[in-house]
Amino acid sequence: MSHVELAFAGVIFDLDGTLTQPDAIDFARMRERIGMPEPGSILHWIEAHATSETEAEEMRAVVWEEEALALDQMALGTGFKDLVRVLSAAGDALPTAICTRNSTEALEAFDALLRRSGFPACATLFPVAVARDHHSTRLGRVLENKPSPEPTHEILHAWGLTEAYPVHAGHEEEAPRYPDLLFVGDGRDDLLAGRRAGTAAAWMNHGDEGAPSTATYSFRDLSECAATLIAASC
Ligand SMILES: [Mg+2]
Repeated sequence: MSHVELAFAGVIFDLDGTLTQPDAIDFARMRERIGMPEPGSILHWIEAHATSETEAEEMRAVVWEEEALALDQMALGTGFKDLVRVLSAAGDALPTAICTRNSTEALEAFDALLRRSGFPACATLFPVAVARDHHSTRLGRVLENKPSPEPTHEILHAWGLTEAYPVHAGHEEEAPRYPDLLFVGDGRDDLLAGRRAGTAAAWMNHGDEGAPSTATYSFRDLSECAATLIAASC
């Protein structure tokens, strides 16, 4: 692939279950341990339901512990090689980023996994990375997490694309203002974090039927994602 025509001007990836295999983190056990009865954002649920800051701290400690257990299980997503081929061929023409609610330690584990597997470093493939509790020097504070559009806005600034794509905060049901920017994820909050910032959003379905209404694309794996990033190749 000596030259690629790109279908997108920028792409943001969730980490867990998107660039890596799903189910490394045992979310069901995490929810059970903190007494959360429903699916959804665990960190938001803790904020809304903990009866004291001490209890919230204890619940968050459970989340961090379960995440740490999962780091050993981390494996690259199906089709990762195809994605790397497209990203390498695209080079600077396709800005990329990772946006995760996981920790910076998870990003380091991902980087180590890439190197062990013979791929370029994380910072080469995904020069911008926003993890949980990312401090924005631009805003002078810690960013809100997905599903807020704030991490997407931060990434657009880091890419230097806010002139072409001015910061937009809208509703997820609006048609994407920036259909050539894409947020890829396996969680509803990934899609919302993109759509609320005006991007298109792709659902990693891992072979399951159905996608949330906020998904503008649905991919079985990273090979399908890679193929969609290219408009044509020659
Ligand atoms: Mg995920």
